[in-house]
Amino acid sequence: MLIKCPECGNDVSDLAAACPKCGCPVSAVVSSADGEIIKLKVDERVFTPFKPEMIVSVNDVQVWRGNTSQVAEIRLKEKTKVKVTINKIPVATKNAFFEGEIDPAMGKSYILKPVRKTFNMLQLRPYPANL
Ligand SMILES: [Zn+2]
Repeated sequence: MLIKCPECGNDVSDLAAACPKCGCPVSAVVSSADGEIIKLKVDERVFTPFKPEMIVSVNDVQVWRGNTSQVAEIRLKEKTKVKVTINKIPVATKNAFFEGEIDPAMGKSYILKPVRKTFNMLQLRPYPANL
């Protein structure tokens, strides 16, 4: 069966060890091909006018990469450890992150809003939203 690589969008055989184009492990592809689609977006007022890089990891495996103007779509079967990092933010703005569990039973889409600064990192928290 062919599945879409979450890293580069390439079609990959589920029998392969890794995506031949970008090297993403197929275990990450398979886990993300299963479960419910969960949407995540950073509150766009936070980084405007910049669109810094946004990376989403599920159980420590990177499953989505884009920027903060986009809606990240990941797949979760159950309450799962999710990490979102916002990198390469220009000038004075600090890097930002969310690390915690997201439960698909609590909602299918979330907006990430800043809650406080921890060691110069802006901490984000997901709030249910319609995306
Ligand atoms: Zn790939």
